[in-house]
Amino acid sequence: MYMKNELPQFSKIRTEQIEPQIRQILAQNQRQVTELLQQPTFTWDNLMRPLEDQDDVLSKAWSPISHLHSVMESEGLRQVYRNCLPLITEYYTELAQNEKLYAAVKSIADSPAYADFDAAQKKVIEDEIRDFRLAGIHLPADKKARFAELEQQLTEWTTKFSENLLDATQGWYLHITNRAQLAGLPEQTIKLAEENAAQHKKTGWVLTLEYPCYSSAMKFLHDRELRRVMYEAYVTRASDQGPRAGKWDNTPVMKNILRARHEMAQLVGFKNFAEYSLATKMAKHPDKVLKFLHDLLKKSRPVAEKEIAELKQFALETGGLREMQTWDMMYYSEKLRQSKFNFSQEKLRAYFPAQKVIDGMFALVKKIFGLTLKEEKNIDTWHPQVQFFVLYDEQGEFRGGLYTDLYARPHKRDGAWMDEYQSRRRLKDGKIQYPIAYLTCNFMRPLDNKPALLTHEDVETLFHEFGHCLHHLVTKVDYAPVSGINGVPWDAVEFPSQFMENWCWEKETLAMISSHYQTGETLPENLYQQLIATRQFQAALQMLRQLEFAIFDFRIHLEFHPDHSAQIENILQEVRQQTNLMDVPTFNRFQHSFAHIFAGSYCAGYYSYKWAEVLSCDAFEKFKEHGTFDPTSGRSFLQNILEAGGVKDPLVAFVAFRGREPQVDALLRQSGLM
Ligand SMILES: [Zn+2]
Repeated sequence: MYMKNELPQFSKIRTEQIEPQIRQILAQNQRQVTELLQQPTFTWDNLMRPLEDQDDVLSKAWSPISHLHSVMESEGLRQVYRNCLPLITEYYTELAQNEKLYAAVKSIADSPAYADFDAAQKKVIEDEIRDFRLAGIHLPADKKARFAELEQQLTEWTTKFSENLLDATQGWYLHITNRAQLAGLPEQTIKLAEENAAQHKKTGWVLTLEYPCYSSAMKFLHDRELRRVMYEAYVTRASDQGPRAGKWDNTPVMKNILRARHEMAQLVGFKNFAEYSLATKMAKHPDKVLKFLHDLLKKSRPVAEKEIAELKQFALETGGLREMQTWDMMYYSEKLRQSKFNFSQEKLRAYFPAQKVIDGMFALVKKIFGLTLKEEKNIDTWHPQVQFFVLYDEQGEFRGGLYTDLYARPHKRDGAWMDEYQSRRRLKDGKIQYPIAYLTCNFMRPLDNKPALLTHEDVETLFHEFGHCLHHLVTKVDYAPVSGINGVPWDAVEFPSQFMENWCWEKETLAMISSHYQTGETLPENLYQQLIATRQFQAALQMLRQLEFAIFDFRIHLEFHPDHSAQIENILQEVRQQTNLMDVPTFNRFQHSFAHIFAGSYCAGYYSYKWAEVLSCDAFEKFKEHGTFDPTSGRSFLQNILEAGGVKDPLVAFVAFRGREPQVDALLRQSGLM
């Protein structure tokens, strides 16, 4: 069963109608809660179900707006978003602090009927009760009000953080009039720069800070001074440093965010925000997180030291560089990779036209999970490059829908992510509402009448986000709060996504996802061998970088003290002494663009990537043991992990799949650390 008429009509969204519509839904929902609470007794059907229904109405109205705000920003939309977000935050805080509602939910948990609830229903109730506590349900009125006020401030500042970052990214570019200066850049990037110039109504070339352009410049531009200029502009975005110093400065915003989180955590009885954050995660205790990260650090650092020594030596020998700087690292790393393995990501692009990769990826999930995806045309979307796919299972049952939006463009937020339009749930009449997800990337767009060509890194990113989408789409849970990615502890969320990445390193998969855009040839054996040989190239350095982000994030939330000044900078300095093998320039303000933790949900949770990678590497080894496409392991992963939503404890789910608890060794092996 397929629900074309249920899809959001993006072309019909009128900016001026958004706020009135959201206000109306909020008012209606509030009225309904009041009415519901007048009932004498409470049951699943007379309270939990209507609450889920009304939440569904709101999230389906808001999701397209917040999605457009991320991928098609305009001044009008930014204003409307700014107007609506406080209303929505207030609405949710009121619900979470509503004592009558809490008592009503609690009465269901204490009723005899509870024993007969299924596991999903019990988990919904359990999570609700936990979240009431985390929103300060037990606090006196003045403290409740303070908590709500902080929640509002946090909403405002995290939004401001993103706005500053987007403005700073778009607010700088480099106009080049002499083609010789672009020496080293791949043809595709030159073409991109040419089109950028046309968009800016200039002749020549324009280099921007959008990631495909920036990263290509840093890897390939021979002109060292240009690299320095671009590096400085990039790492000082939204800060007090660099070419636009102070214009979109996130310095006060970051401090305000940390202060608000800290005070909120303390209000509801935690020592700090890190502990508050762990209340809903697998890793329960801060010591456990820090020990995990530092163990990895101890194992990676000696290997990384060798990697950096090799790189410096190479830069000296080939570039006469006595002192390597941070803006030389990507450039010489790329050169070293080419010289050691005769390999370049750019060379691979020709073999990975985006559509072929998508088709191959779908063929893969057909093999391992029995899932089928088909494109639907003539869907109302927000951009001509957006595609829409429908998902069916092995029995031919419809399971969900997926939008993909793959290419970088102005007014689109940086990075790659998935988000949801709606979640699976069973409606009152017994019918299923099927889940729908958005998959967003920022790859280099199709240029020069060629198809879009991806690097292998892009392919990995696509598999990663597709893993998140599958997790949301194949769920069999019938209650929205714990179906798909909902209710999954944050440090387990990256498990299915990182798990999927593994396949794009398998020879059999590469044969399915590659096809030279001119000759149709799949990735040749020699290129495959080179690709595999580079898999562990600078793996320890990359590990160190991720550990730097993770330890920094965790420590600023764990150690935050409102009276300490420059704490963010100081902690970052301390962490870098452990994780950094190069002197970072004093102007570097990487933290000012660390949107994952200042504007996203990875706060005191960035460690989740490594945490979940232990699960994903170990889970994948089961396929190495039983065969890459082993259908039995595939179906077991589908049932135990992907379909389970947020109902089962992730550790229990893992054991059900693997037959034992996770071991860190698989991750160490994959990173060449043992
Ligand atoms: Zn992810």
